[in-house]
Amino acid sequence: MTVRHIPRKRFGQNFLVDDGIIDGIINAIAPQRSDHMVEIGPGLGALTVPLLTRLDHLQVVEIDRDLIARLREHHSSEKLTIHEGDVLKFDFAALGGNLRIAGNLPYNISTPLLFRFAEFAGHIRDVYVMLQREVVERMVAAPGDSEFSRLSVMLQYRFDMEMLFDVPPESFDPAPKVESAVVRLMPFATPPHPARDEAVFSSVVARAFSQRRKTLRNTLKGVIADADFARLNIDAGARAQELSVADFVRIADAVTASA
Ligand code: SAM
Repeated sequence: MTVRHIPRKRFGQNFLVDDGIIDGIINAIAPQRSDHMVEIGPGLGALTVPLLTRLDHLQVVEIDRDLIARLREHHSSEKLTIHEGDVLKFDFAALGGNLRIAGNLPYNISTPLLFRFAEFAGHIRDVYVMLQREVVERMVAAPGDSEFSRLSVMLQYRFDMEMLFDVPPESFDPAPKVESAVVRLMPFATPPHPARDEAVFSSVVARAFSQRRKTLRNTLKGVIADADFARLNIDAGARAQELSVADFVRIADAVTASA
């Protein structure tokens, strides 16, 4: 008899138990046998098992040794490759390209993980993940929305994103305190507004959002002059939240040009 696994809070373990939601996620992914798929945090296998029935092979990244032992017990290494360890340190590039990533993510690491997907975007075909709904709302927010943030700009620069459906707390065991949602990310072949220097773009966005209430004139003081704002036709009295991804790229390109 298999002993019941006690969910570990520190690993964000809320296991999916609602078959309707599980089917909804699998149908959205629509796996094809030869897909090159990686699941993050397979846990007790809520998504892993239906994925394995549709795929020739699946790779998973899991940090919890007890859960890894269970997965080894139930699945052959021919069907399932288990990468033990922290997904925040995982080298997705080592798996090659055209990766399909799926997972009901540990919410405590969702923001750094999303930034990691952006880093590996060139190796990714698509990503289907469950996250805290509030995070998904920030990801897909439009300029001017109160949720529009650094995360929105950095992810929208690289991915086409769609919030697919909401998932209530009762769909998990134990039930989390927050609402969840499933989102799809598809990397653009080329960003629609490519920055001349992405490191400069990233640092301009981080600075602009570092003090959300301050104007760009203040947050970007010493980075770009008032005259440059005027030349770019961007209001220096605006706040970061009001600018589009394209505006941030124009500012970053002006900074790059003057360096
Ligand atoms: N996929 C399962 C499900 O839907 O029921 C489990 C989801 S649970 C929210 C998150 C899973 O991610 C757990 O299995 C947990 O052990 C694993 N996990 C947590 N932190 C991780 C990390 N840093 N790297 C890899 N896996 C992690």
